[in-house]
Amino acid sequence: MTSSNGHSTSLPKTADIVVLGAGVMGASIAFHLAKRKAGQIVVIDKDHVGRGGSGRSSALIRMHYSFAPEVQLALISLRMFENWQEIVGQPGDFRKTGFVRIVHPHETERLKRNVEMQRKLGAKVDLIDKHQLRELEPDWNVDEVKLAAYEPDSGYGDGAGVAGDFLGAARDMGVTYLSRTQAREFVVESGHVRGVVTDAGVTSSPVVITATGPWTRPLFQQAGHDLAIECEYHQVAILRAAPGMKGGGCACIDSVTATYFRSDGPDKFLVGDFYGKRPTDPDDFPQRASDESLEEIIERACLRVPKLEAAEVMRGVTGVYDMTPDSRPLLGEIPAIDGLYVCAGFSGMGFKISPAIGLVMSELVLDGTGRTLDVSAFRPDRFSIGQPIKAEYEYVDD
Ligand SMILES: Cc1cc2nc3c(=O)[nH]c(=O)nc-3n(C[C@H](O)[C@H](O)[C@H](O)COP(=O)(O)OP(=O)(O)OC[C@H]3O[C@@H](n4cnc5c(N)ncnc54)[C@H](O)[C@@H]3O)c2cc1C
Repeated sequence: MTSSNGHSTSLPKTADIVVLGAGVMGASIAFHLAKRKAGQIVVIDKDHVGRGGSGRSSALIRMHYSFAPEVQLALISLRMFENWQEIVGQPGDFRKTGFVRIVHPHETERLKRNVEMQRKLGAKVDLIDKHQLRELEPDWNVDEVKLAAYEPDSGYGDGAGVAGDFLGAARDMGVTYLSRTQAREFVVESGHVRGVVTDAGVTSSPVVITATGPWTRPLFQQAGHDLAIECEYHQVAILRAAPGMKGGGCACIDSVTATYFRSDGPDKFLVGDFYGKRPTDPDDFPQRASDESLEEIIERACLRVPKLEAAEVMRGVTGVYDMTPDSRPLLGEIPAIDGLYVCAGFSGMGFKISPAIGLVMSELVLDGTGRTLDVSAFRPDRFSIGQPIKAEYEYVDD
């Protein structure tokens, strides 16, 4: 069967590369592989593009990390977000509002060290005191803040938009996309992946890249690999800004209130929570946030932004994080199964690095190594070999 735009809508019997999942990761991988003319690429999603965690993402974009490769991934991605039209051919949804990181006062030394490291890597970031912060964001209560990190070039984007744009551009370059098609298991023979069994038949392929977010663990379990990914339920509040509140302000991650927040267009405000509930079933979690939970999250955010007390709650967003023990993703080929790659476990922070992740995953597959950036620290077997990632100046809540 062929759709009106000339793309096949039935499962091809063979492919050079199969990508499972059409969230920001799968779509970005397909885009970068197609740019390299990597052969016949098939993307399969059990639902539809951007309908997993990507479409529910708060989509903050920041460079502030304590582990250098994450800063580098964020920087490479920021350049792509800034030049979206030129690179992906669409206007994009990147809003450069600026970003502020507030840490516990006793972690101010760590903040300084991390900012120093980020600047060395090319991030535009300044340390600002409470007076400068008050000038920047007059609605925030910053009395106890000693120093904060301020990134003028950061902000937020849109997860469904990024996934859709990447996938659309990939399809224009010849990638085949099948929605509502679920991968059931990998075909593995003599230590090599040979394809995927789906509910629409089998596709043979020497390379399978799994970017299935919170649904990743069960797929690998039946192939004999138990990846350390746990699903965690999160809730986010969207509010109508209270009268007199500054619109379009900075995004912020605030360890003191254990919340993150950002403007959402000129007249709305988004508040999210550090805390989530585990375990949760990614196919069966509440689609509606509970009023009590939203109230509690907003109450904490009010300690930082008191004017939120008068803001009207418009709706809640719920979603699932795919958490790993060190809160960093699993990237790379599965040991003992040639050609089978994992790209999952983004632990609630994958959106902002998704453009770079697609690029480095395409390099791992086509070149055998991350040419743009060494991502070997994220190897999928790092927990079983006792090498979890621990940054030098990690925060208590990193
Ligand atoms: C509430 C919330 C807030 C967030 N806020 C931020 C933020 O502010 N900044 C940030 O950087 N990140 C944030 N994140 C994290 C970020 O959104 C995710 O890390 C990112 O979207 C993950 O993308 P993905 O492509 O790996 O997964 P997903 O978007 O979940 O995509 C996985 C896809 O795989 C498909 N799939 C699953 N199993 C199968 C199968 N067996 N066969 C075929 N297809 C399958 C699914 O249908 C889905 O479309 C947030 C996440 C949530 C939930």
